[in-house]
Amino acid sequence: MVVVGAGFGGLAATKALARMPVDVVLLDRKNYHGFWPLLYQVATAALSPDDVAYSVRGAFPRQPNLEVRMAEVRGIDLEARELELDHGPDLPYDYLILAPGSVATDFGIPGVSEHAFPLKTVPDAVRLRHHVLRQFEMACSRPWSLADGALTVVVAGGGPTGVEVSGAMAELFGKVLKGDLQDNLAAARPRVVLVEASDRLLNAFSARSRAEALRTLTKHGVEVRLETTIASVSAHAVKLGDGTVIPSQTLVWGAGIKANPIAQCLGVELFPGGRVGVDPDLSLPGHPEVFVVGDIAFATNGKGRPLPQLAPVASQGAKHAVRSIGGRMKGQASKPFRYRDKGNMAIIGRRSAVAELPGGIRLGGTFGWISWLALHLALLVGFRNRAVVMVTWGWNFLTSGRGSRVILDLHPAPSQTARRPRPLVAERHRPPRPLHARRQRLVSAQRRAAAGTAGRGKIAA
Ligand SMILES: Cc1cc2nc3c(=O)[nH]c(=O)nc-3n(C[C@H](O)[C@H](O)[C@H](O)COP(=O)(O)OP(=O)(O)OC[C@H]3O[C@@H](n4cnc5c(N)ncnc54)[C@H](O)[C@@H]3O)c2cc1C
Repeated sequence: MVVVGAGFGGLAATKALARMPVDVVLLDRKNYHGFWPLLYQVATAALSPDDVAYSVRGAFPRQPNLEVRMAEVRGIDLEARELELDHGPDLPYDYLILAPGSVATDFGIPGVSEHAFPLKTVPDAVRLRHHVLRQFEMACSRPWSLADGALTVVVAGGGPTGVEVSGAMAELFGKVLKGDLQDNLAAARPRVVLVEASDRLLNAFSARSRAEALRTLTKHGVEVRLETTIASVSAHAVKLGDGTVIPSQTLVWGAGIKANPIAQCLGVELFPGGRVGVDPDLSLPGHPEVFVVGDIAFATNGKGRPLPQLAPVASQGAKHAVRSIGGRMKGQASKPFRYRDKGNMAIIGRRSAVAELPGGIRLGGTFGWISWLALHLALLVGFRNRAVVMVTWGWNFLTSGRGSRVILDLHPAPSQTARRPRPLVAERHRPPRPLHARRQRLVSAQRRAAAGTAGRGKIAA
């Protein structure tokens, strides 16, 4: 039995397989499970990367029928029942559960793939955090860069991710970093602009929750632009569909996802978003030994409506796939998958969230916020992560601070890699010094060092 992907679907499937008499191989290209719903908190310096990531091996300390492998699946041979991996020999399977999730899509908008910051992986979140903190440092040392949008963040997409990022960015600038700004800069307010193509935020929520989200974001200083599209983006500006140009060096891309490209290996009909059409029991048409679950699958609710790309859909689907495999091994026919909707939640900011639960229960404001925190804490994988996140949230709340504000330049920002660094002003106007003069200085420095009189102090022998 092979499970591809240690995300929400893959983890649920692997746990369910612990009770079955099968050998399981769990494959993921990373060595950790990422808890994506808290990714925006890493991007806004509220949490550290390893608070939202958990070692895949650590998640299954005592599962004797399991082998965990860090490998990327590059191809699938459905006839031979083999997976092609990025290294090592092909991996044969009897049953396959495919849960490789989704990837960000730029909808072909010019400049998005080069300059925007997607928020789909832990490195994405770390890269965005470093970029925002670097922009802040740049604004402090070069105040004139504010006019170029150094502290203007544009967020594309008014779904839960866009709303959460906008609220958190407004809080980061308005509450946390504001205290660090010099007086002359504090007056020049950083901008957060949320751009949504439709006429509403949080489309899956009720009108009341949508209105609360809009009201709260606006109150926190987020400029919400509905019925507006992104036309193009460059390293220094975001151009909107109505022609407006917003000087900004930070476009956060929460506007869309598509199925993992591995879907194209399966040779079956792909639905909108590149999702794989599946039979009602989530198996691949014509291949009862292959189950496709989570974001990559186009499963329906029985009335033809596609199920949303959400964590509970992935984990419930994975458990259903395992039940179906267990039934098949006993010669029983599998049942159609029925998703149990447990509701929707989105956090908007400090002491503000909307939660819509089964039975028509709606929570907003502080109650919604507490329920959001409690649920996400409970769903995090690993006791250590739950404890650290709980303490960090408490600390952040009491101090209005953000602990994870260090810039570790491991991942250059896309706009930086795309941009040629400008020479320093002094260098631009200074004629190059003749080579012999430079050599002369080097020789003198070497002599001084040899004599133990180098300017910066000498190294003890
Ligand atoms: C920023 C963000 C916020 C979100 N917030 C919420 C929320 O609040 N509530 C909610 O319900 N849902 C939320 N979601 C959606 C939710 O995270 C997804 O629906 C869920 O993760 C889907 O589970 P999955 O198992 O299909 O994929 P994933 O959880 O994404 O797991 C896929 C795994 O497959 C691995 N993989 C991919 N390709 C390969 C390959 N070729 N070979 C090997 N391994 C591979 C990946 O490394 C990954 O570990 C959010 C998503 C994002 C990005």
